[in-house]
Parts: sequence; C-alpha cells; structure tokens
Amino acid sequence: MDLSTSAILAQLQKEDSYLGPIWEQVEKGKYPFPKFFIKDGVLYRKCMPKHSKSEQHAFCMPDVRLQLALLAIHLAMNHASVTQTLRHFEQYGYYSKNAKRIMISCIEACAHCALSRREEAQKAPLEPRPKRPRRKKGKKSEQRDLMRFQTPSDADTAA
Ligand SMILES: [Zn+2]
Repeated sequence: MDLSTSAILAQLQKEDSYLGPIWEQVEKGKYPFPKFFIKDGVLYRKCMPKHSKSEQHAFCMPDVRLQLALLAIHLAMNHASVTQTLRHFEQYGYYSKNAKRIMISCIEACAHCALSRREEAQKAPLEPRPKRPRRKKGKKSEQRDLMRFQTPSDADTAA
C-alpha cells in the first residue's frame, strides 16, 4: 500500500462515525478496543474468520467505501448471494460491522438481481404445488384442513 493511498484511507476511517472514535483512542495509545490496531497508518481489526484457523488482520472499511467494495465483489462473483459476497469480503481481508446490512440493500438495489427475482416469482405459479401457504403442521391437522376444505357449505357457496 503506497503512502498516499493509506493517507486517504486513514482520513476516511477517521471521518467514519464508528471507526473515527476508535482511531482516536488507539492513536492515543489507549486500548478500550483491544481488537483494533494501527498498521502502516491505517486502522485494522484482528479477526478470526470461520474458514481460517489463524488470526487475520482485516482492514477496517469505512462506510463511504463499503457499498462500492461489496458491489464490486458481488459483480465479480456473477451476482453472488449476500452470504457468499460477505464471505469473500472477509476473505479479502476487509472488516465492517455494517457489511451485512449494506449488502442486503445492495442486492435489493441491483437491477440484475431484481430481474431474476421477478423471473423466479413468475415461474412459481406454474408449479403444481397447491396455493395454500405451507405451514409447519403434523399430518393430522393437514388432513383436518383438507376435510374442512371439502365441507358441503364450501360446495354450496361455490355453486
Ligand atoms: Zn446482483
């Protein structure tokens, strides 16, 4: 990381509403946030990713860059899901407490993903599955439902 880039990133971190106060404390040599530390003039966080056995040092992504970073990963992975995108975000060595929330809104705003969601929804009625909402029930109550569905009063109103 060259000096000018890290200076810009550090500035963005300091302006971040969550990272800014942490930066200040860590810079002063106070450690109420033992997981955070400054390396090459930039704030990092010690992380223990699920896929890894060793501790990693993740760059603290400021909110202003977060959406762009997540979207880039989402697109590079051919419109990956929220979970997959977040996993890669972690694997790239980034950290943000807002990553999940922002990623959900990114996917909602993605035109390509919205289109495939609509296509999925249009396909759904063609399936032979009955329209009744699926409920977690035992077999007995389902049979009872079926009987209620075929009561004479129902037939009367339908006729
Ligand atoms: Zn997408």
